[in-house]
Amino acid sequence: MAILVVGSVAFDAIETPSGRRDRCLGGAATHFSLAASYFTPVRVIGVVGEDFGSAEEAVFASRGIDTRGIEHVSGKSFFWCGSYMKNLNEAQTLNTELNVFQSFSPKIPTEYQDSEYLFLANIDPVLQADVRSRMPKVKMVCGDTMNYWIKDHAENLARVLKNLDALLINDGEAKMLAHDNNLVVAARKILAMGPKALVVKHGEYGATAFFGENAFPGEVCRTPFRAPALPLAEVVDPTGAGDSFAGGFFGYIASQPKLTSAVFRRAMFYGSVMGSFAVERFGTERLQQLEPQEIEDRFALFRQLSHLD
Ligand code: AMP
Repeated sequence: MAILVVGSVAFDAIETPSGRRDRCLGGAATHFSLAASYFTPVRVIGVVGEDFGSAEEAVFASRGIDTRGIEHVSGKSFFWCGSYMKNLNEAQTLNTELNVFQSFSPKIPTEYQDSEYLFLANIDPVLQADVRSRMPKVKMVCGDTMNYWIKDHAENLARVLKNLDALLINDGEAKMLAHDNNLVVAARKILAMGPKALVVKHGEYGATAFFGENAFPGEVCRTPFRAPALPLAEVVDPTGAGDSFAGGFFGYIASQPKLTSAVFRRAMFYGSVMGSFAVERFGTERLQQLEPQEIEDRFALFRQLSHLD
């Protein structure tokens, strides 16, 4: 079942304690697509400039990702420069150049209209709401956002939240969105804003899901669920870990016949699996060349990590 993702396709410059890269392929939609492509067909909507060439195109093509929705316009692609020198768990943004992203107006190719799953990656909530409204038949919609939209575009974001099946954000953003420092209370408040489920990401400490009353038709599921992150000796580059989590999570859900609480919980583990791979190398390097068996082996490792007889 195909997932349609709309979001940034970018070039990133990154410095971490493990080294630096001046220009690597990045963007939320890129990390998401690569991770999800191991589970289900993926279609991307985004915009790039003249600097996005055949080498970048080949990364998507090698994973069978449909890029007909990536618009090519004159100018430079979105560019983001971040540092993790102070804190490996949180990027410090050194520079953001919107470039062609500034006037991004998502166009949905007719071939994408039958997509059953929609992921609204971190972009202007006005654009998220617009794409959502033009895909009325999708089975499930998940979305992400960031502090900038939470702080200064709250009303637009509220309109997006009303129509989400699941919101995936990090814990600091969840507390900011709910104006509450207690995660459980914050989750309750966010679920009251619309999403049927909330996935709160805790970086190296995993992720917690909270469920609204109507999360799974015919099932009562009130207990939150936490998936661990894999303790790693070296985190080379955390960029895109959240989007890779989202890709693994939503990709797995889209590969299953029906959404149940058990599927949702397994999806949380597949999200953690893909996040753990993403941070092992710079940029998209690791997610470009995984073997399906590596994913299953790591899933088994996650089971051992958290299993109790
Ligand atoms: P993550 O580490 O999962 O939060 O996502 C990192 C990716 O988000 C990077 O590859 C960046 O290119 C992209 N990114 C950074 N800032 C923004 C922004 N303001 N809007 C959209 N994408 C962004």
